[in-house]
Amino acid sequence: MSVEAGTQDDRADASHPAVERALTMLRSGGHRITGARHAVIETLATIDGHPSAEQLSEQVRTLHPTVHRATVYRTLETLAALGVVTQVHLAGNATTYHLAGDATGHHHLHASCRVCGRIIDLPSDLLDPITRRLAEERDFALDPPHIALSGTCHTCQ
Ligand SMILES: [Zn+2]
Ligand SMILES: [Zn+2]
Repeated sequence: MSVEAGTQDDRADASHPAVERALTMLRSGGHRITGARHAVIETLATIDGHPSAEQLSEQVRTLHPTVHRATVYRTLETLAALGVVTQVHLAGNATTYHLAGDATGHHHLHASCRVCGRIIDLPSDLLDPITRRLAEERDFALDPPHIALSGTCHTCQ
């Protein structure tokens, strides 16, 4: 959980420390760094906003045309299972992908607007009291980073 040391000015560094940290997470878990895994991690670190698997695969394939679409999808699933990528489920079956907070150093949760589809980043500790209550009272382990809260944004109200 602690990747805080020396991360202050990471954004100014062109070598994408988030990529390095994600690769380190794979290596330290004894997992291979395939070309596809590297390409997907690099794309996730540089793409703006909250991309779908389709948008990610297009972006990966503009830089790495030899990586097949199905491989990108499979790689996303694998990296999510290994904890390097976070899958966020949005309303209406849509899914977006992030490098895990441990890699980016930017832990956060999401809300999505039911009207315009906009996705808003929220503080990572927002659901802590609810997570604790669910664990204590219902023996349920909530997974806050994987869900987006649904509602109506400021503009659409
Ligand atoms: Zn909206
Ligand atoms: Zn986000």
